[in-house]
Amino acid sequence: MTPIISKLPQTGTTIFTVMSALANEVGAINLSQGFPDFDTSPELIKLVNTAMKKGHNQYAPMPGVQSLRERIAEKTEKLYGAVYNPDTEITITAGGTQAIFTAITAVINPNDEVIIFEPAFDCYAPAIKLMGGIVKSLELEPPDYRIPWDMVKRLINSKTRMIILNSPHNPTATILHKEDIDELSALVKNQDILILSDEVYEHLIYDGETHHSMARYPELQQRSFIVASFGKPFHATGWKVGYCMAPAFLMSEFRKIHQFLVFSVNAPLQYAIAAYLKDENTYLSLPEFFEKKRDYFRKGLEQTKFKLLPCSGSYFQSVTFDDITNEKDSDFSLRLTKEFGVAAIPTSAFYTKGTDHHVLRFCFAKRQETLDKAVERLLKI
Ligand code: GLN
Repeated sequence: MTPIISKLPQTGTTIFTVMSALANEVGAINLSQGFPDFDTSPELIKLVNTAMKKGHNQYAPMPGVQSLRERIAEKTEKLYGAVYNPDTEITITAGGTQAIFTAITAVINPNDEVIIFEPAFDCYAPAIKLMGGIVKSLELEPPDYRIPWDMVKRLINSKTRMIILNSPHNPTATILHKEDIDELSALVKNQDILILSDEVYEHLIYDGETHHSMARYPELQQRSFIVASFGKPFHATGWKVGYCMAPAFLMSEFRKIHQFLVFSVNAPLQYAIAAYLKDENTYLSLPEFFEKKRDYFRKGLEQTKFKLLPCSGSYFQSVTFDDITNEKDSDFSLRLTKEFGVAAIPTSAFYTKGTDHHVLRFCFAKRQETLDKAVERLLKI
């Protein structure tokens, strides 16, 4: 047979799969891939069971279960002041990653340029390249990973079609501030530039900070796909249910792809989440819940030779390890998993050029005893 011409010749297996597999193989504590090791709420599980018993076991409507889209519209209006029409502007997806892929596929044409900020979540660039788009990446630097807006301005030209933002940010745990929003608004004004805003950690934000959703700012909202997730807030990453919100002119293109990519998403879970969302405390309580874990883990790490980077949101804590070794972060993360029994993600995996600032990312969405055990092992280094 003629050899297949790879569409993504430079792409290997995602770092999350690689590190989780290694952690399982050697029996390490897995603080690499981001997922909780505690269970989702029993009440939510009961609601799924009820939905199944009620017979919600056939295809959900293509855009998602109506009541869930309505709850999302209510939540968005209440939190961010934006009005989305559940019929035409909200679609339930099989997790955030599918929403991101679908949004990019829907609007990126060959030679369109897309600006991303690195370290960047690893699904953005491949989707852009598959569409023949050109990835324009701008590297950010620790400890603050602030976006240099003057450099963004220099990257913008007539081919710029999209800017991808992510706040709270994975992997760096930084957040966008009001000044970033002002800079962004000034840059895109009167330009044909769309925004893809990955907000899957919207409810995981700490120290009383505000989540600057694109939905708060009409001039940004009207050009944005906003991607969100239920896996993170409800401790159910394996359910793979998320959603995308966008103005109707964008959402109609999104749905053209969505209907042939997944058609529709797991029906009983959607009914259950819709019922669960009626209580706003299910998500409003999250900053306090995760902030405690963050503080607990940071206190533990302070005793080790790792140096803490700031953490304003998400469930990730990054550290530098210059006092420990000169190894590449990728090598050190392998050794850390095999020799010390703790798995982390090397941040160089999120840079196109593999830029290595000697930063590792740990996930602290874990039970206290898991965090204790991990710190105990890290103290041995
Ligand atoms: N969002 C999760 C993380 O950053 C993992 C997602 C995935 O494995 N695709 O670890």
